[in-house]
Amino acid sequence: MFVDYLPVFLDLRGQRVLLVGGGPVAARKAALLQAAGARLRIVAPRRCEEIGPLCEQPGTEYLATEFEPAQLADCVFAVSATDAAGVNQQVAAAGRKAGIWVNVVDDASAGSCLMPAIVDRSPIIVAIGSGGASPTLARRVRASVEALLPERLGALARAAGERRARLRAALPDLAARQRFWEDFLDSALAQQILAGAAGATDIDAGFGALIDAARDPHSSSRAGVVWLIGAGPGDPDLLTLRAQQLLQQCDVVLYDRLVPAAVLARVRRDAERIFVGKEPGSHRTTQQRIHELLIHHAQRGRRVARLKGGDPMVFARGGEELLALARAGIAVIVVPGVTAALGAASGARIPLTHRGAAQSVCFVTAMGEAAAALDWRALAAPLQTVVFYMGAAQLPQIVARLVEHGAPPQRPAAIVEQATLPGQRVVAGTLQRIAALAEAAAVGSPALLIVGEVAEFAGGTPAAAMERA
Ligand code: SAH
Repeated sequence: MFVDYLPVFLDLRGQRVLLVGGGPVAARKAALLQAAGARLRIVAPRRCEEIGPLCEQPGTEYLATEFEPAQLADCVFAVSATDAAGVNQQVAAAGRKAGIWVNVVDDASAGSCLMPAIVDRSPIIVAIGSGGASPTLARRVRASVEALLPERLGALARAAGERRARLRAALPDLAARQRFWEDFLDSALAQQILAGAAGATDIDAGFGALIDAARDPHSSSRAGVVWLIGAGPGDPDLLTLRAQQLLQQCDVVLYDRLVPAAVLARVRRDAERIFVGKEPGSHRTTQQRIHELLIHHAQRGRRVARLKGGDPMVFARGGEELLALARAGIAVIVVPGVTAALGAASGARIPLTHRGAAQSVCFVTAMGEAAAALDWRALAAPLQTVVFYMGAAQLPQIVARLVEHGAPPQRPAAIVEQATLPGQRVVAGTLQRIAALAEAAAVGSPALLIVGEVAEFAGGTPAAAMERA
């Protein structure tokens, strides 16, 4: 095997490093080297604005002169960040002679080492290099890795690092410890840490329980967990990063009718899939049954993803599930999703608030008998946007009630069907006409109704009323 470069991580804490150059590029390198604890010697006849304050940092010295090889004395590493190729070459040559690694920022081949693009989740650090062939491509790879790694990966690594000694004392056998760390990373506790939902005492307690389980192979005390995850309105790219990470790790997923196939395709391949949707007309899974299933699987130590369309805390019985799981003593992590109203607003380019037209937004569900109990006079009032989550069949009643309670029949209204999905359709009109338009267009499910002046944006050209705002 042949590798172009050998990646190494330098411990520069307290070490002298020479930085040649005083421009913005040098300033970026100076900040990075200082963050790594280096004592900098910055050499540049002139300094740019950004690098000024960095030169004043404790431990850093600044020489307002040209580069000279003698400045390399007592340095372990040198970086040349000037735009003068001749100077860069001098630094590289002097470094070679003195046996010091030199990085030339602009020209990889001139120096003797490269500085990679980095993804920093210290103490986990990912370094990406392209051997100078394409720094742009390296930055793209960096962006992909950045999206892949949870923000609190460093916290997870630290939580493990701080407990290594405790584990060594509890589990003297090396192989057992290795198995333990695998289980730890797969545990509900690890996910809790990544979600920022575990304090030091929770971590200590959870860690203790994992050790007990590891010592007793017959125990079934591996704690399961339920992740209440919002699947967003349909487009799988609108999943949050955390939703994607957890969907890749769950053992079982319970999903609703509104979760599209493209989102399910992002679930770990060998996870068990359980449909708990409420298909209109056909057999329905009761809410009570869903609670039983969630508890059943979690109590068997499984990582259960409860995947719901949109956001799990908006018209989604999230509250009932939280209460049932709390009663059963099962840990829960909630991951938000883009709720249908927000997906529809972006998909149809309707701002939900707009100066002079809507100062507030209201999300309403007008399904079933509960609709009668709503404050229709308030919903009919001007200067607001009201978004109805609804079945298409309810549309005529909703419109009739709004008009009955004082909404002008000319008030703009729009229906967004299958928001953010490939089949998205927008039907725009006024309260007076919207039901007939929807019927003519054979609007189906899922769809929601947006009522208010802002619905004029759905036509593409907002009228004069909008321009005035
Ligand atoms: N928790 C979900 C709402 C579930 S209620 C959320 O936060 O979005 C179900 C209603 O949401 C549907 O009847 C419909 O009105 C609306 N809805 C869900 N997905 C939709 C979509 N892609 N387009 C339009 N409306 C949608």
